[in-house]
Amino acid sequence: MPNLFGMTREEIEAYFLSKGDKKYRAIQVYEWLYQKRVFDIDLFSNIKNEVREELKKDFDTSFIKIHQRQKDELTVKYLFHLEDHEAIEAVVMMHDYGVSICVSSQVGCNMGCRFCESGRLKKRRNLKAYEMVQQILLAEADLGMRISSVVIMGIGEPLDNFLEVTKFIKIINDAKGIAIGARHITLSTCGLVPKIYELAKFSIQINLAVSFHAPYDELRNKLMPVNKVYSIPVLIKAIADYLQVTSRRVTIEYVMLNNVNDSIECAKELAHLFKGMNIYVNLIPYNETNHLEFSRSSKTRIKEFYDTLKSEKINVTIRKEFGRNIDAACGQLRGREIK
Ligand code: SAH
Repeated sequence: MPNLFGMTREEIEAYFLSKGDKKYRAIQVYEWLYQKRVFDIDLFSNIKNEVREELKKDFDTSFIKIHQRQKDELTVKYLFHLEDHEAIEAVVMMHDYGVSICVSSQVGCNMGCRFCESGRLKKRRNLKAYEMVQQILLAEADLGMRISSVVIMGIGEPLDNFLEVTKFIKIINDAKGIAIGARHITLSTCGLVPKIYELAKFSIQINLAVSFHAPYDELRNKLMPVNKVYSIPVLIKAIADYLQVTSRRVTIEYVMLNNVNDSIECAKELAHLFKGMNIYVNLIPYNETNHLEFSRSSKTRIKEFYDTLKSEKINVTIRKEFGRNIDAACGQLRGREIK
């Protein structure tokens, strides 16, 4: 039985039409779920009893569960348990401009980035759209707050789960639903090139972020095995084509690993690769994990890297840090529980 929270409005419309009912019922359902936040079909009072009974027979409305929660002043990290007892994480961050959530897209990850904690668990399965939608609904209910932006940067490679992730985006972007604007949704990928081309054709113009992390193939091959399949020139071509199709600025993420990828030479090469392209670089202070071979670059080193990019006319920011004290970084909470 499909879960109701994984249904786009068009799909619910098609469902009602197939039952000989009216299309607008889908809007009613969306209003109950996403505007009134009433999750019990029995309480959908503007929908006839017999239609509600059918809905209950045809759709599951069960939720994933908040298993654990950790907080500091500006960050709340959730560990969720899924129906098959798998575990995933989401992190809510309070900014001065609003509240954002970082959601997971898979249980585990197959990309194998050497420095990343999430990849220690190989992919066990893709998340369904409803499991991503519910990360948002549960966090909002728990905090009594509305979330204004969504980043798909938690556990998993979202473009390796293209179908469910794009469905998730349609559901949360729907104006009759949670209504998170396309410009407030960001998808981060390690660089699955064919899927970047597919995403360029997707109807909703979200923000794309690419985890780049190294300007030389030799180094990137070592850090990110995906680079052996889609090398830097191929990836940059895909980004350039994406920019041309969408006219949307792309974010280049660059995690600062002490003495690995943080030299001035790396900064210059990075600038050279992206010269003249409509991108900006987001430098990410590395969250130290159990991968002891990696440590974070010093503040001065990050600043030098930043200044070099600036002087090369590359737009650059340094990511504000959240949740360092509560293991909010990249698979750490889950990692700890599993141990
Ligand atoms: N698979 C996607 C999204 C999940 S990772 C991707 O690769 O983009 C989200 C971002 O966090 C990526 O840029 C990833 O490289 C980075 N990251 C992973 N582990 C990290 C760590 N310990 N500290 C800082 N950033 C990390």
